[in-house]
Amino acid sequence: MTDNWRLVYEGHDPSAEPLREALTTLGNGRFATRGAAAWASDDGIHYPGTYLAGGYNRLTSDVSGRDVVNEDLVNLPNWLPLTFAVGDGPWLDDPSNTLTDDRQELDLRRGILSRSVVVRAPDGRETRVSTRRFVDMANPHFCGIEMEIVPVGWSGTLRIRSSLDGSVTNHGVARYRALRGDHVSVVATGADDDGIAWLHAQTAQSGLGVCLAARAIVDADGDAPVPEVDSGATRIDAAYRVEATAGRPIRVEKIVSLRTTRDPALGDLVDDAVVDVRRAGAFDALVERHAAAWERLWDRYNVEVDVAAGSDLAPHPIEQILRLHTFHMLQTASPHTAELDASIPARGLHGEAYRGHIFWDEMYLYPFYLQRDPDLARALLLYRYRRLGEARAAAAAEGLDGAMFPWQSGSSGREETQIIHLNPRSGTWDPDHSHLQRHVGAAVAVNIWSYVAATDDRPFLARYGAEMLVEIARFWASLAVERADGRFGIDGVMGPDEFHEAYPGAREGGLRDNAYTNVMAIWCIEHALYALDLLDGWAREDLSVRLALAEEELDTWRAIAAGMTIPVLPNGLIEQFAGYGELEELDWDAYRAKHGAIGRLDRILKAEGDSPDRYKLSKQADLCMLFYLFDTPELTELCARAGYPLTEAKARETIAYYRERTSHGSTLSHLVFAAILDEIDPSASWAHFIEALRSDADDVQGGTTPEGIHTAVMAGTVRHVIERFAGLRFRADGIALRPHLPDAITRVRFTVLWCRIPVSIEVDRVRVRIEAASGARDPVPVRVGEEMTSVVAGAPQIVEYTRPS
Ligand code: BGC
Repeated sequence: MTDNWRLVYEGHDPSAEPLREALTTLGNGRFATRGAAAWASDDGIHYPGTYLAGGYNRLTSDVSGRDVVNEDLVNLPNWLPLTFAVGDGPWLDDPSNTLTDDRQELDLRRGILSRSVVVRAPDGRETRVSTRRFVDMANPHFCGIEMEIVPVGWSGTLRIRSSLDGSVTNHGVARYRALRGDHVSVVATGADDDGIAWLHAQTAQSGLGVCLAARAIVDADGDAPVPEVDSGATRIDAAYRVEATAGRPIRVEKIVSLRTTRDPALGDLVDDAVVDVRRAGAFDALVERHAAAWERLWDRYNVEVDVAAGSDLAPHPIEQILRLHTFHMLQTASPHTAELDASIPARGLHGEAYRGHIFWDEMYLYPFYLQRDPDLARALLLYRYRRLGEARAAAAAEGLDGAMFPWQSGSSGREETQIIHLNPRSGTWDPDHSHLQRHVGAAVAVNIWSYVAATDDRPFLARYGAEMLVEIARFWASLAVERADGRFGIDGVMGPDEFHEAYPGAREGGLRDNAYTNVMAIWCIEHALYALDLLDGWAREDLSVRLALAEEELDTWRAIAAGMTIPVLPNGLIEQFAGYGELEELDWDAYRAKHGAIGRLDRILKAEGDSPDRYKLSKQADLCMLFYLFDTPELTELCARAGYPLTEAKARETIAYYRERTSHGSTLSHLVFAAILDEIDPSASWAHFIEALRSDADDVQGGTTPEGIHTAVMAGTVRHVIERFAGLRFRADGIALRPHLPDAITRVRFTVLWCRIPVSIEVDRVRVRIEAASGARDPVPVRVGEEMTSVVAGAPQIVEYTRPS
């Protein structure tokens, strides 16, 4: 039985374990732990990873005689191990034991993962075991696990063992295994007189200190058993012997504190962790506080969706997946993250794919938080601000001005993109030019602007935002080159479509005039200028002096923005990049017939000795991103200012043209096409939305989710409900709603924060109901379609609308 607040897996299936582990990860925005069984070791099936937001380390590996430096989000020592053995028999994870009646349940509302299983020992004795665990959303240092052990029809000795295991490495992603993963080593282990065990570890290069302290209490008949502690070089075990009686549960609770040298208000790493555990109180009380913290988050983030009869998904209903997505987004970044210097890895804190790096995905991610928790959105923007120096240095190293944010970012904000990439189809290491995607700064700029528009936080703009916008604009202006025709262009970049890395046969990577990049450069320059105009006199003067920003420079920017090239195909549509029109058409049907799934055409073509550079094809929305980010009228004006006459009809033709030539090799592509096709081709839009929804729940790419969730697609699907089904936009003058429920959806309901006022919105097929709490900007101006209304706290408004046909 499953409901939309629970993700349930029934049956023991080792092959499904890696996916389930990723999807049952528990976290609190500070750290997260995969849902590996407490008794399991890292045995090729289970992978009990724990990752700290911002917890990176670099190592140099020898790949075919080449030194390759990689920075990884470190797999930290494992706090989970809790196991038992019947008499002197094998520990629970020994293959001689048989596991049946396996059931896992993730309670999304309370953030609790439960698992129960029946274990049959080699001597035939059966034991029922149930566990419950949490990663504390109330106090982000804590996590805990409780185990209940019930002997079925036997009595006798039971051995129980609780451990902290520091013998961990990063090897969760098979294709990275040629690279080193020995990031962390144990400094010391020990225990205090009360039986609190601790393990102190440190990363090799970044010097990140980590301490786990654990207290395990065994509640059996008679006196509480005293543990025998074995303090080893890489792990510490506390072992108990108890007498078990048939049918009488033995309860073990393990409470753990995770402290690191990145913590604010840290005294002594080991002491602080031990003291935490000593003060922790009872397991049940911790769980209640944790669940109450989740309840408060759900008040703000819950999205309800009613699906028309016959249209829901199985085995995971649409509303359940949306909750699962919200849940994992809040575990990756929560209000606790706002206290840290961290951003959101593309694959969450859920696995090691992309090494925990941060990409342009914040374009998809940050609005998810901005709509409900602007303080968190602000804190995430500061991750970029603190790395502005590194971005300036990267630009300078290329002889450019301003700030060039890296394609992949980790600890310091320097470029972390690998220079070679393993093609799993061919087994070869190919050169990786993806760092030529210079458009990351545009994502940063869009998010700064959206934040300021939604909050009117002028102090943020004055102190951080405007500086970043100026440095990003400066970078574009210095990258732009003047062409023979007097217009400006940008050379040597890659667009979001990563399939085209270079011109066919060229030795140098990079392309000329990627339309997405050029248009975003215009947008960034224009918005840096608007931001300067928003600053008051003193702030503007301060910034101008600090950045040596003179009026002449601004004039140059204006000229570049007005004269930026938008490349055009012979048919008059915008060209993805200069020269795209001359590439060959791919025989899509032949490739589909031969390979079935052709999302990763790049790998297919390269494994055939061919190159995607030769063809008109895209991995994902590239130029089409523009239709995702901007309404057509806004984009039309933007293009007009650069001299390209975009019309509604041309916009549709452009989407149709590139849609036919996109393989959707990234889950991001489904999000974008779901959005941009919603009015043009509703059934295709719905199909893309469903594909995006299923990406992780059903691991549609066949093996990527076990390596980590796709955070952008998770955030993007929830945003799709808010921004497309309800059609919500934050405007400086209020909230705009343009409902567009697809046929399969009969009602949606959610809450957003406009100028810090919680506004609950419910949209069905005929009306919109808006309810606002009180706040400084009371009443809240709301436009539904073309109708204006204002919503006073305590007086919900109902506005009827006509559903677009
Ligand atoms: C996509 C990128 C994205 C990255 C991380 C890649 O597959 O092509 O656009 O930034 O994944 O999510």
